[in-house]
Amino acid sequence: MNTQHIIDALVAVQAAIVANEADIESLDRAIGDGDHFINVRRGCEVLVAMQADLAPLAPSAALNKIGMKLLSTIGGASGPLISSCFLAMGKALNGSEQPDRRQFAAAFTAGVDAIRARGKADLGEKTMLDVLIPAARQLVALAEADTPLPEICAQMKAEAHRNMLATRDMLATKGRAAFLGERALGHIDPGSKTCEVAIGAICDLMEEAA
Ligand code: ADP
Ligand code: MG
Repeated sequence: MNTQHIIDALVAVQAAIVANEADIESLDRAIGDGDHFINVRRGCEVLVAMQADLAPLAPSAALNKIGMKLLSTIGGASGPLISSCFLAMGKALNGSEQPDRRQFAAAFTAGVDAIRARGKADLGEKTMLDVLIPAARQLVALAEADTPLPEICAQMKAEAHRNMLATRDMLATKGRAAFLGERALGHIDPGSKTCEVAIGAICDLMEEAA
């Protein structure tokens, strides 16, 4: 992985988030305060605008810069959480110029662990972590097994989709949706939808490149 891959991924995620506006918006309107799409879109826009600043950096420094930028641009609960993920990923890559798939999987795991720590949340609480925690475990396992890239992408997309849908039947115990109690049942968590869309966009991009 190099920094151009990160930049390409940001561009792909931004397009996918915008293409899923209606879904993401309506989910946070149903069980949150309706700002999740705007928060995430703003984050994507500032990152895509940073392309030229990111390009000369090593992946670790680029991810660190992304995390710092998101901290000051995305509001809501999701801003500091997503920001902490990028900062931790940058730290885990530790200056490596061309991290391999296993190093990337380990960095992604560190990023997801940072969200867990910051959000004080875990699996089954109807948050973005219900997509991210299984995705990190899956990526580590697939990378360890030297699974071919198209297969990694297909499996990651299917699993993210399944885990996003599973949040529909969960009670929320963290975030704004927790105030709704049983009224949150039947609604997909907006953050898990955003993460599914992002994972899908990055996998599609890598499948095209493979
Ligand atoms: P806010 O809830 O402040 O309006 P957003 O609407 O941008 O912020 O983000 C809401 C999303 O953030 C939720 O759908 C959920 O996935 C995620 N989230 C909220 N609280 C937590 C937490 N403690 N840990 C992990 N994710 C969380
Ligand atoms: Mg919100």
